[in-house]
Amino acid sequence: MNQTGVLNSKLLRFGLSVAAVLMAAIGLIELREKVNSTTVALAFLIIVLSAATFFGRNPALLASFVAMLCFNYFFLPPVHTWTISDPQNLVAWAAFTITALVAGELSAYANRRAREAEQLYEELQNAFAAATEAEALKQSEKLKSALLDAVTHDLRTPLTSIKASVTTLLDSEGGHRTIELNSEGRAEFLAIINEETDRLNGFIEGMVQLARIEAGSVNSSGKLANVEEIITIALERAETVVANHHLVLNLQKELPLIRVDARAIAEVVYNLVENAAKYSPPETTITITAASHGNAVLISVMDEGKGIAVESREKVFEKFVRLDGDRTDGLGLGLAIARGIVEAQNGKVEIKSGDNNAGTKVTLTLPIGEE
Ligand code: ATP
Ligand code: MG
Repeated sequence: MNQTGVLNSKLLRFGLSVAAVLMAAIGLIELREKVNSTTVALAFLIIVLSAATFFGRNPALLASFVAMLCFNYFFLPPVHTWTISDPQNLVAWAAFTITALVAGELSAYANRRAREAEQLYEELQNAFAAATEAEALKQSEKLKSALLDAVTHDLRTPLTSIKASVTTLLDSEGGHRTIELNSEGRAEFLAIINEETDRLNGFIEGMVQLARIEAGSVNSSGKLANVEEIITIALERAETVVANHHLVLNLQKELPLIRVDARAIAEVVYNLVENAAKYSPPETTITITAASHGNAVLISVMDEGKGIAVESREKVFEKFVRLDGDRTDGLGLGLAIARGIVEAQNGKVEIKSGDNNAGTKVTLTLPIGEE
């Protein structure tokens, strides 16, 4: 507001306060025969109180002074005389003034508190927005590093096979050959190289995904994913891994969409299926189940292997933890990666026994997207 604006609004407030008193006085003069002086004083008191509430202390003080003069001149007998020293008059004046002071302060105080509350609300809102942003950033950082772990882990396996196949092929070539290979044998190694390079290609896709997360276009809690699609992606990748097992798929119809990154969760399911195949005998069954439960979808991978002892069910989620006596072709990273990915997306993963108290059942709990 500019200076004239301030002045105008000040004048207005004082003017309106006085006008209200004068109008009340005129109204009350009309009714003089029917009302006593106490009623008149109360009416003025209300005007002063209103002035204090709406316009603040100083306009109310002026109003109280004018009210006192009107009261004295028009209503206190003997009327139309100034009898300032009359005790009735003094009491009325005191009442008007005190009302103006107290109500004025109270309304100023209330205004101040309202402004403070408004500021506090704004501050809270800003803090809340900042916290939400920080949380989203933290979640996406977590997902990023979990996915990086996954991709590095998965790169190792095909590279090892490719390297071994190429070494064998080279050793069967030329004058210093140390291995004899017929054309069938050579074709087999070439097929392995072919397959494994395809897998590598898949992992490069993972890297691209990772780059996207980095660029912020894949948000850890933003996108919706289809459970069936996730399982299909995982099983396509796991095809060779489960070749010696019976696979049973048990998916509830019309599953709700879940709020996760599809590729990352497919990575997790792949790891669970790989474990199920690795740690259970050939020709046994691996069952994959998906069903909605409350505001989550549960995806389980169950095998008929020797199971994981209750006391080890938390430990196996730690990095590089492998249980005694298990086969040595692993790093003990699969489950750690799985947990990293799932928890970065507000889900959880837990291990139980299989349905008939035999084998292992690993269950993912993943949040469904709101309608
Ligand atoms: P990686 O997955 O890195 O190749 P890994 O399979 O040994 O190696 P994890 O997947 O983290 O590592 O599993 C950790 C350990 O938990 C395994 O070494 C194994 O002892 C045990 N384990 C995991 N899944 C099963 C299962 N389905 N049945 C029995 N034991 C399991
Ligand atoms: Mg594993």
